Parts: sequence; structure tokens; C-alpha cells
Amino acid sequence: MVQDYRNFVNGEWVESSSGEMTEVINPATTDVIGRVPKCNEVDVRAAIDAAREAFDRGPWPRMTPGERAGILLKLADLIQAEVKSLAVLESKNQGKTIKQARDGDIPFSVDNLRFMAGAARALTAAAAMDYGGTATSILRREPVGVVGSITPWNYPFMMAIWKAAPALAVGNTVVMKPASYTPVTTLELGRLAERAGLPKGALNVITGPGSKIGPVLVGSPDVDMVSLTGDTETGREIMKEAATAIKKVHLELGGKAPFIVFDDADLNAAIMGAAAGGFVNVGQDCTQACRLFIHEKVHDRFLNGLLGEVKKVRMGDPLDEHTDMGPLVSKPQREKVENYVALGKEEGAKVAAGGERPTGGIFDKGFFYKPTVFIGCTPDMRSVREEIFGPVLQVLPFSTEDEVIEWANNVIYGLYASVWTKDVQKAFRVANALRFGAVEINDHLPLVSEMPHGGYKQSGFGKDLSIHSLEEYTQLKHVWVELTGEARKGWHYLTYGEP
Ligand code: NAD
Repeated sequence: MVQDYRNFVNGEWVESSSGEMTEVINPATTDVIGRVPKCNEVDVRAAIDAAREAFDRGPWPRMTPGERAGILLKLADLIQAEVKSLAVLESKNQGKTIKQARDGDIPFSVDNLRFMAGAARALTAAAAMDYGGTATSILRREPVGVVGSITPWNYPFMMAIWKAAPALAVGNTVVMKPASYTPVTTLELGRLAERAGLPKGALNVITGPGSKIGPVLVGSPDVDMVSLTGDTETGREIMKEAATAIKKVHLELGGKAPFIVFDDADLNAAIMGAAAGGFVNVGQDCTQACRLFIHEKVHDRFLNGLLGEVKKVRMGDPLDEHTDMGPLVSKPQREKVENYVALGKEEGAKVAAGGERPTGGIFDKGFFYKPTVFIGCTPDMRSVREEIFGPVLQVLPFSTEDEVIEWANNVIYGLYASVWTKDVQKAFRVANALRFGAVEINDHLPLVSEMPHGGYKQSGFGKDLSIHSLEEYTQLKHVWVELTGEARKGWHYLTYGEP
């Protein structure tokens, strides 16, 4: 059934002012699963006004952290109660497998929300002290104000929570804009937030084309901070837009993770880690293990093992419990992957597995692409250094530790990396030398709510998850409390008169 959605603005469900709608497609079948409002500038301004009013005069920023936590914990419970139906919707809209949505993304979002609700009650700043001798200094952590949150299509619900949870927990109000391909579960988040008792205007969800309405959100002087998870190019655009108003930006951008396997590694673990970390979410993951640097002594054994694992990946209907890999999110995304595969071939790499669309049945309808492994790659190829964001892995032999560190760092990105070895000193040495925001040793992918996630270099700045994310959504205020009560202070003579 095709459902018509509305936007969630100021606690109400509204159509776009133009009445225009955009169809939302299931990428596995290309069936239309819903229609969402196609917002324009007027609609964005209405959402900003609602969030501004809610911040300047509404109850949300004025509640105690404990009161806000109560509502956010209720929201977490409501999400948990609907995990199954939200997972089905996420799978139908994004194309991800039902097991990934139901057992991964949505439960992790619940955990993240619970963490943020509680941790915001324990935020700290430096202790108060009489640093000025005759005055006590106090540091306050205050919300930034109205936050424009812009999310990508690869983990729609989870990214919405990664942004909304810390922003709301510390008392900001939010205008959220999900990616055009995948808006429906973020609108469901609005519905659940309403049920949880979030005051009107605290969370607003608007849908529409990012390139048109995004700049309105980013450029508005009534928006105090912009938080984006998306492509590095989009991050660049947003920084430019935000510069006019010197606005705080929080950017989680692209990645091209190195996966470094030394000759003393547990090879089986590395092989399975590469397949799991490489084909996760059809490779549409900013932390995807895609540049596989394998020590030359174990390269052939690793490759054979990896090709064996690739054969086990079951493609098909994402709603089927036994499917491991669904379609890519959209036609343009599959075209992008195909263009990169063509480029890889032109650059001299060889396809050892995949490299084409599967055919027959559901595969002829949706945007499917086979899990693909390239061999014969070199570190300087464009197809190796640029983000593909699809099920394409590149295997590169290396011989020395110094060489692999240099190659691994030789990209514009710096989000995620992993090192596979049993030698603890080598593991730490390499982890320290890698210019990436997160390095895993003998694993690739797992995240926890308590630890930060975020990039170095052009993968952006600012952290998601953990207490550090909460801090990103606050600003520090120094309050100076004069203690003597004397009219003429000791320092006044510096301006006029005698000491
Ligand atoms: P995208 O940059 O195309 O879109 C992200 C969001 O930005 C969407 O909501 C889009 O509508 C909006 N947008 C587009 N142009 C805009 C503009 N000019 N102004 C304001 N908003 C605009 O990214 P995507 O294709 O949806 O997602 C994939 C990208 O996200 C990949 O590069 C991936 O690496 C990155 N990503 C990063 C992380 C991380 O934690 N670093 C996590 C997930 C995804």
C-alpha cells in the first residue's frame, strides 16, 4: 500500500505549502512504497521558526536534564516496542536486509538514545575556582540552540538518532532533514517522539531535495548549528554556506578504510573480517573495509579464502531472513558503482569476483550488484583512493610496515582503519601511525555508544556517539562571580586613576 506521509513541524503533521509530493521507492523492487512532502523554502522556514520558538521560549531547553532524559527514555522504549515494524519499513525503503535493520541498526539506535539520555545528566566542565583571586569562575555547558540535522541514506534511522539524541538530550531543538531516498523511518521517529511527549517544536522533520532546501536550513541565521552526515563534497558546500553566519558545523563525511593484514595475523579471522566488513550494507558504509592491504607472504592464501567467502554471500530479497545482501539504494548509486568498476578495469585492475549485475527474478527489477573483488590494484589508482560506496573490495599486496602505513594514509579520508596481527607492539605502532579517527585491531566495524565515532582529514570533524558527541552540541559559558562587593576593584586603576 502506498502511504502518504506528512512532515512533522511544531508538533503537527503538515503538507508542503505547494502540496507537491515525492515518491519513495523500494530499491529491491522499484515499487513505490510511499509519498512524502516535497518541501520548499517556505516549509523550511516554518520548521526553523518552530524550532526557534521552542528553543527561545519553549519548555524543552528549560527542563532539567533528568526531565529531558525521562522523555527520551520513553522514546527509546517506544522504538524498542516497534523494532520489528520499523525494521521492515527501513528494509523496504533502504534495501538493507531485515536482519541488519532489526538486529543491528534499530537496537543500536535504542542503546544510543538511552546512553545519551543518561550521559547528558553527567556532563562536566572544569571545577569552579577563584582563579581571579576575588572572583569565582563557573563553567556552564549550555545547548547551542536550533540545530539543523541533515542525514544520509545508508543508515537512515540510526543516523537520525545519532544526530537527534545528543542534540535533544542537552536541550537543543532540532530541524531534521533526512535524505530524499530514505525519509520514511525518520518521519516515524517524529511520530514516536510525539507519543513520548516531546514538546512541540523540539523535533521537526521535513522532507525534500537536499540541494534545494539544505542551503536554506544551513544559511538561516535562526539556525545555530548544522550537523551533517554525508558526502565530503556536501560537507564542503555546507561549510561554505555556514561561513556567512560563522555557524558551528559538525561533519561526518566519507571514508575509504584501509584493512591491513600482516603475515602473522590469524588469516581466517582476517578473511571473514574482510568479507563481513567489506560487504556490510552492500558496502554503503563510511567505515567499509575496502582497501585490503595484504602482506605479500599471505596474499594468495588470503585472496583464495576471501573468494571462498564471497561465494557464501546470499543476494536476494532483503526481507527474506536468509538474505545477506540486498540492492544498492538507488539507480544512480548502482551507476556510480558501475562507473568505478569500469574505471578500475581501465586503470589495470582485474576483477576476481563479481563485477556485474546479477540477473533473473528480483535481480532484474531492483538495483542489485554482485559482491566484487578487484586484484592487481595499486595504491595510487583513483578507483582505490576514491570512495565507491558499494560492494567493491580492492586487494593490494605490501611488503613492509613503513610502506603500508604510507599507502594507507595516502587518501583524503581518515575515518576508519583496521590492523590484523598477533604482534601487540606492531599493532599499537601501526594504529598510532594511521591518521584515522578510529583504528580497530583484529576486527573491523563494531561500534559502541560509549566510544566516539568520527573522522580525521576530509572525513570531517566532530564526533558522533559517546560523551564527546554530547559536548559537540553544547557551548561553554564562563560566568565570573565577583566576591568582594567593593565598588572600586583593584584592577580599575589600569583604566583610570591610581592604584
Ligand atoms: P549526501 O551528501 O549526498 O547527502 C547527505 C544529506 O545531505 C542528504 O540529506 C542530502 O539531501 C543533503 N544535502 C545534499 N546536498 C546538500 C546541500 N547542498 N546542503 C545541505 N544538505 C544537502 O550523502 P549520501 O549520499 O546520502 O550518503 C553517503 C555519504 O555519507 C558517503 O559519502 C558516506 O561516506 C557518508 N557517511 C558518513 C558517515 C560518517 O559517520 N562519517 C556515516 C554515514 C555516511
